[in-house]
Amino acid sequence: MTRRKLPQCSRFGCYESPYAGNLCKEHYEEDLAKRRLREEALDLLHRFKVDGTALTKPEIREEYSRLERWWDRACRAVNFNRVDDVLQDEAEYAVEWCIAIATSLVEEERLFRQGISHDPMQKVYRDDVWARFSNLEAGLMSNGVARRV
Ligand SMILES: [Zn+2]
Repeated sequence: MTRRKLPQCSRFGCYESPYAGNLCKEHYEEDLAKRRLREEALDLLHRFKVDGTALTKPEIREEYSRLERWWDRACRAVNFNRVDDVLQDEAEYAVEWCIAIATSLVEEERLFRQGISHDPMQKVYRDDVWARFSNLEAGLMSNGVARRV
């Protein structure tokens, strides 16, 4: 007896039938939301705007100006294929970390506009990413391990 495998969602561990793009409805929509948020993070990095308006929460503006410097630095290294003194071989990762922080800033700015002052989990998440930049600034690898010379 031959058994044909029924099509399944391509997400590991999910056995739902595909809805779009090889994913079930739930995972497809999750994916879509993630992509949209990434676009919005890039919008913040490129245009300093969330939903078409400049940042309003002071702490977020401040954190953003820190982020902007890293973003410029990482982009310069990647776009011109140049080794940055601080980022070294981690410039491409640094681009992703900037997007990750920006994503969280978008979410927190939105909460603020809804009158919710603070989401502690967002801050914990960002601090975790910021720690990588601090390590790089201290001349270490982003994971805190000393570089081999
Ligand atoms: Zn699924």
